[in-house]
This record gives sequence, C-alpha cells and structure tokens, in this order.
Amino acid sequence: MEPMRAWQVSAQSPIDEHPLRLVELPTPEPAGHQVLLRVLCCGVCRTDLHIAEGDLPLHRPQVVPGHQVVGEVVAVGGDAVRFSPGDRVGAAWLAGTDGSCRFCRRGEENLCLQASFTGWDIDGGYAESIVVDERFAYRLPEGLSDEQAAPLLCAGIIGYRALRSTNLPHGGRLGLYGFGSSAHLAAQIALAEGAEVYVATRSTHARELAAELGAAWVGAADERPPVPLDGAVYFAPVGDYVPDALAALDRGGVLAVAGISLTDIPPLVYDEHLFEERVLRSVTANTRADGEELLRLAPRLGVRATLSVYPLEDAARALADVARDRIVGSAVLRIGD
Ligand SMILES: [Zn+2]
Ligand SMILES: [Zn+2]
Repeated sequence: MEPMRAWQVSAQSPIDEHPLRLVELPTPEPAGHQVLLRVLCCGVCRTDLHIAEGDLPLHRPQVVPGHQVVGEVVAVGGDAVRFSPGDRVGAAWLAGTDGSCRFCRRGEENLCLQASFTGWDIDGGYAESIVVDERFAYRLPEGLSDEQAAPLLCAGIIGYRALRSTNLPHGGRLGLYGFGSSAHLAAQIALAEGAEVYVATRSTHARELAAELGAAWVGAADERPPVPLDGAVYFAPVGDYVPDALAALDRGGVLAVAGISLTDIPPLVYDEHLFEERVLRSVTANTRADGEELLRLAPRLGVRATLSVYPLEDAARALADVARDRIVGSAVLRIGD
C-alpha cells in the first residue's frame, strides 16, 4: 500500500515549540475486528493539545493525535462484520475496553481499567488513514456532513454526557463555564430541550456566539449569573472559577467538570460551595451508548457546529489556534474527499 501522511507527536513541548511533525508512514492494515478508514475529516480537540504539550503523559511514542474521525471504510479485518467498504463511520475517543473489569460489567465502560483511547494509545485521525476497532466505531447519520459530524465525536459526546450528568430538570437553568467546541454543542441540545442557558466565558467572540444561539445571559468568566443555576458544566481548562461556579448553583445543583485536564481548583469553603447538597463531579470519557444517543439526537434537534476548517498540512496551526482561544466553535481538519 501507498504511504500516508500523518502528524506525530515528536516530543511533548509547548505548541509554539512545534511538538508535532508531519511525516510519511506506512498505511496501516486492518486485522481482527479492525477496519481501515480513509480519513475524510478529523476534529481538533483540546485534548490533542494536552497530549502534544505534555499536560497528559504520552502513552505511545510518536502517537498520531486526533479522536474525532470521520472516515470511509476501505478494507476490513478477518473478524470484522459490521461495516463494508464504502460505509461512512466515525471513530471517537474510546478506542477499546477489556469488557470484563468491574466497571465494564456494570455498564460503566467509560471507567474501564484497561481502556484505550484514539490518538493517545492508538494512532488517531491527524492522518490520511487509520485503523479502528469496528466495535467502537459509529455509523454516521446521513444528512450530516463530514465536517459537521467530526466535532460531535468528542466535543459533542462529552458535552452531552456532561449535560446529562447534571440531572438538569426540564426547563431548568443551566450554566456553562467556558464556551468552546463542546459547550456550543451542549448549549444547543439544552436549549432545544427547553433549558435556560447561562454562559460565562472570557472570550468575547464566544459570548457573541452564545447570545446568537439563544443564551439567556452571557458574562465574563468571573461574573455570577443573575439567578441560581439548577446545574452547570465546567468546560474551561483552568480550575480558578470552579468555586464561583459552585457558589452560583441553587440548592441540590450539580457542577460537572467536562475536561480531561484541569489546573488546580482553589480551596473550597464548605458553607458557600458544597453545603445544601451542591455536587461537584467530573466526567470521564464516555460509553458507546452516550455516543449512539448523541448521534441520534443531534441531527434531530438541529445541532450545528460553528466551524473553522483547516487542511491536514495546517493541523499544528489549528492546535495553536485552539491554544490561543482563537477558535469560535469547533476546528476540523479536512483530510480526504
Ligand atoms: Zn473494563
Ligand atoms: Zn476530545
């Protein structure tokens, strides 16, 4: 097979010191339950930046990042039965589980002790081709373009899981702290389901987008929403405002932290931040059921990502733009057509 172009993490370092390198690699071959995808699009996620910069440890030397992969099946392994060449499928963050640990057995495969992740443990979608386990891939709804489908595969799914984990009552007031790719998709779901949405973010462009989408209130990162919130999702990568977000909750409200990496949270004051049954929880990866639900729901509710599209050659620039908060909505690499 012909070689493919792919971005590898050559050495973890700040994005301005170019941790990624565009290289030629042999096109992988599918074995067992794997399918080989010709990559059409790959979403750019802040987690890719954490892996490139070293906020997360490297699990595999010279890994190819990218875990929001839309591709076309071109070949299948000997045990693969779910997809045929020509099918369009999505590959997301959760790449594999053992299926047997205590978490898998009770339906919480997102907590699997042996989980592997796309673009961290196995090579990801910043490449012209990728092999993925078909059991962890998604059939993509028709009518959803490649570019629109890509950000749903992590930003969408994680935002959705985080939203559900707040147990927001119908018509409830939802706070969103940070308003990037994941938040702007979760906001659309919450709004379509009748929630009132309150957005606090430092980016003025993101505040404009939030207002356009129908947020009831938008403010700066340290501003307090004008009403107590029934639930909130914390998308920002810095922990500084977690206490403020807890203080903004109504009694019994849940604050879900959606990020995989967060700087330290300042000390909490029990009375102000936790008492009256306020809950602080995190969200870790997702189950395949979360993904299937989101991919059914998002097109039905008319969720549409605001997109910045880059060619594969510009992946490093796209990540630098994520690092500098220059993206409004979602960044996507267009790789094949
Ligand atoms: Zn497991
Ligand atoms: Zn992600």
